[in-house]
Amino acid sequence: MSGVSVVSMPQTGTVGRPAGDKVLRERGQREVFCGLTSIVWLHRKVQDAFFLVVGSRTCAHLVQSAAGVMIFAEPRFGTAIIDERDLAGLADANTELDRVVTRLLERRPDIKLLFLVGSCPSEVIKLDLSRAAQRLSTQFMPRVRVLNYSGSGIETTFTQGEDACLAALVPELPAEPAQAAPSLLVVGALADIVEDQLGRLLRQMGIADVRFLPARRAGEMPAVGRHTHMLLAQPFLGDTARALEARGVQRLSAPFPFGVEGTTRWLQAAASAFAVEPSRFEATIAPARERATLALARHRASLAGKRIFFFPDSQLEVPLARFAARELGMELVEVGTPYLHRQHLAEELEMLPADVMLSEGQDVERQLDRCRAARPDLVVCGLGLANPLEAEGMTTKWSIELVFSPIHGFEQAADLAGLLARPLDRRTRLAA
Ligand code: SF4
Repeated sequence: MSGVSVVSMPQTGTVGRPAGDKVLRERGQREVFCGLTSIVWLHRKVQDAFFLVVGSRTCAHLVQSAAGVMIFAEPRFGTAIIDERDLAGLADANTELDRVVTRLLERRPDIKLLFLVGSCPSEVIKLDLSRAAQRLSTQFMPRVRVLNYSGSGIETTFTQGEDACLAALVPELPAEPAQAAPSLLVVGALADIVEDQLGRLLRQMGIADVRFLPARRAGEMPAVGRHTHMLLAQPFLGDTARALEARGVQRLSAPFPFGVEGTTRWLQAAASAFAVEPSRFEATIAPARERATLALARHRASLAGKRIFFFPDSQLEVPLARFAARELGMELVEVGTPYLHRQHLAEELEMLPADVMLSEGQDVERQLDRCRAARPDLVVCGLGLANPLEAEGMTTKWSIELVFSPIHGFEQAADLAGLLARPLDRRTRLAA
């Protein structure tokens, strides 16, 4: 499988969306990477965590190749291989796992948080990683906390790996004191540089207590409770948000911080919740907003009027389509997303053009037919579809690159536009 899960469930239908338009809902064969892929960015974020995939050689190969040719003296991810003896039930997989974990933690005193990451093979042999994590946590606490989540490719898409990882962290977060002052929690793994920029703006406008989930170190995970307000930084964190809400955290509704408009409204949601004076808000964000607006103008000139087609892959599709349409003047041919979280995407959906073609789920052959018929200028899609479409003369952008790259916030708005413009520039140069 090499990380691409292909699930076939032929069924196609349409449902109404709040704006009165239709969403094409498809459930057929789909092509997406599995949740293990998210280890690639998560292992860089939490610096004393280790991600131990409990899976096959295929899983090991996927994570290694997705991470690129990175050779670390002390890598922060690895795979405990389930071999034929485990699959045949000839060996006790739990004993083997305990042995691997013990050896790893003896060798690596820097590890403070260990994630056991489930995979398709561990689910097939019904290895109970939740019990294994409890058992190992009891053994290694307080030095190392052991948690588990699933990155399996059955019925998931790759960004759900981050959602599952953060949701596993939530029960472990400390409780805020009963009389705590209001705090703001930004939820979702962001590049450090983006986190610093957004944190600076939020503090400058007067929000004193700004925290991030995940924190950069295991011992610095934020306390949460009824006085915590959360802003989601990523649109794929449904389970994490639900787990936080169960702990009393209040979600602030906002579009996602992509582009000038999305970032402004995302920050505005925080400002409103914390009663920031409009003049102070404006004075804080104006310089960065003006810089971003100027920087975007160059890309708008080359992208306006270009037709863009999103295949469902990262779950960033709806906010990115909103940015492409409203700030770059691009025409949306189809906006496909693996899942449409209507509540978290409510503001985004309101900002899309009323006649936009939205699709949820995938029946890949049908969608490819629609794409071929439309001949868009740019196709945003997974790696598995990009090469065949390029061979047919279409211009593509790998959606996974948009997840790996820092694209949130004012300072990155032009970089995000540049990521969409680059394949078109390259095609134009090749044709010249
Ligand atoms: S978890 Fe499943 S889809 Fe992902 S690499 Fe392993 S076998 Fe393939």
